[in-house]
Amino acid sequence: MDHAPHERLHLVLEQQRAAFDQDRLPSLAQRRDRLARLQRMTRQHAQALAEAMSSDFGHRSAHESRLADLFTVETGAQHAIKHLKRWMAVKRAPTALHFLPASNRLMPQPLGVVGIVSPWNYPYYLAMAPALAALAAGNRVMIKPSELTPRTSALMAQIVAEHFAPEEMTVITGDAEVGKAFTELPFDHLFFTGSTAVGRIVAQAAAKHLTPVTLELGGKSPAIIDASADLALTAERLAFGKLLNAGQTCVAPDYVLAPRAMVQPLAEALIAAVRRHYPRISDNPDYTAIISPRHHARLQGLLEDARQRGATLLRTHEEQPGDRRLVPTLLLNTTAAMTVMQEEIFGPLLPIVAYDRPDDAIAHINAGDRPLALYWFGRNTAARDEVLARTHAGGVTVNDCIWHLGQEEQPFGGVGASGMGSYHGVWGFNTFSKLKPVFVQSRWAGTRLFYPPYGDTFDRLLGLLKKIV
Ligand code: NAD
Repeated sequence: MDHAPHERLHLVLEQQRAAFDQDRLPSLAQRRDRLARLQRMTRQHAQALAEAMSSDFGHRSAHESRLADLFTVETGAQHAIKHLKRWMAVKRAPTALHFLPASNRLMPQPLGVVGIVSPWNYPYYLAMAPALAALAAGNRVMIKPSELTPRTSALMAQIVAEHFAPEEMTVITGDAEVGKAFTELPFDHLFFTGSTAVGRIVAQAAAKHLTPVTLELGGKSPAIIDASADLALTAERLAFGKLLNAGQTCVAPDYVLAPRAMVQPLAEALIAAVRRHYPRISDNPDYTAIISPRHHARLQGLLEDARQRGATLLRTHEEQPGDRRLVPTLLLNTTAAMTVMQEEIFGPLLPIVAYDRPDDAIAHINAGDRPLALYWFGRNTAARDEVLARTHAGGVTVNDCIWHLGQEEQPFGGVGASGMGSYHGVWGFNTFSKLKPVFVQSRWAGTRLFYPPYGDTFDRLLGLLKKIV
C-alpha cells in the first residue's frame, strides 16, 4: 500500500473528530436531517445501486437488491426518524430510598467518530444499516466497504460525498490492506461485519486503542426439522431462505437436521420447491450469481470433496450455467470429515443431516460454535421450547428462515464465534451511544452522615440501612 490512502484515513478521522468536538450533542433536527438525506440518497440512486451490485456479482437479482439492500435501509432510517426523539431523551431512573431526594438520570451521548467495515454480500445494506444507527446516535461515520464489490463501493463513495459533508460521513474504498489500516485507527467505536476469521484480527487491532467493537460474524446456522413439521411448507420456506442471494447470506440456513425418516421426502419437497421458485437456473434474472471466480471454485471444491468422501449430491436442475450461477444442490449422507460440514457454506448447497432422536440434533448443534441463526420447523411447541432452552444462537426464526433479521423491534447480533454486540432499532442507537448515568445530588443529603470522623452515627446508620435495603 502506498502512503496516500493511509494518510487520507488519518486526515478524515481528524477532520471528523474536530467537527464532532464542535458539536458533541447534535440536535434532534440535525440527526433527522442526516437520516432523511440517507433515505433520499437510497431512493435517488436505487436503480444505479442495483445495477452496480448486479455488475459486481456477475448477476444480482434486482428484486432482491430492492428488498434486501434498499428497502431495508429506507425502513431502518424511517424507524429511527420516528423513534429518535424518545431514544435521545434523558430518562429518569429510580433512586434507592436512602439516596432520596437525589435523583438518577440516564443520558444517551454520541461516542464520537465511528468506523464501519462491511462485507460484499449485501454491500449497501450492511454498510448503511449500521451507518444509520450511528448517525441517529449523533456520531460521525467512516465506512470501509468490501473490495469484492468495487463498483458498488465506488458508487457508495460518490453518492455519500454528494449527500453528506466529509466530516459527517465518508466512504473509504480499498482492499484488505486498507481495511487493516482502517481498523487500526483510534475510533470511538468499530463496527465490523464479516467473517469470524477476520473478526478476530479486527478485535485485536481495536484492542490496541481499547476501541470498543461490535462484531457481526457468520458461522453454520442450522435448521432443525421436528417430526411434527409440515414438509411442503417447510421446504417452501427453506428454499427461499437458502437461495436468496444464492445462499450468500449470513443468516442463510447452512444445513438441515431432519428426522431420519423425513430426509428423503424433505429432499423431494425441497427440489420441487426450488424448481417452482426457479424454473431454470441459466439466465434466470431472479437467481443471483456467485460473487467471484474464487468463491465459485471454493463451492465447487466443497461439492467435489463431499462427493469423493461418499455424499449423495442431488442437483435441483440438470443444467450447466455458462456464468457464475451455481445449480442448487442438496447433499445427503454427509459426514463430519467433509469440508462442507466444517466451514460456513455461503452458497446454494444444502446438506440434510439425519438425526434419530431430538437430543442428537441438539447435541450436534452444541458440539459446534454458537451459530448466528437457528431455525426450527414444527408444530410441537414443547419440542420447540426444548430446543430453544438447550441451544444458543444469535437469533431464531420459528417455522421460517431469515425474517428475525428484518425486525427493528428486536436486537440483531451473534453470540460466541458468531459475534458480539447488536444493532437494529433502539439497540443500534444504544450500541453507538454512551448511556451516561448522572446522579444529581440534592442540597439536603443523608450521605453526609457517612462522613468522618467515623463513630456511632456511622455504625447505627449502616445497621439501619442493612435492615431496610
Ligand atoms: P471478510 O471478513 O473477508 O471481509 C469483510 C471486510 O473486512 C471487507 O471489507 C474486507 O476488506 C475487510 N478485511 C479483510 N481483511 C481485513 C483485515 N485483515 N483487517 C481489516 N479488515 C479486513 O468477509 P466477507 O467475505 O466480505 O463476508 C462474508 C462473511 O461475513 C461470512 O462469514 C458471513 O457470514 C459474514 N457476514 C455476517 C453478517 C452479520 O450480520 N453477522 C452479515 C453478512 C456477512
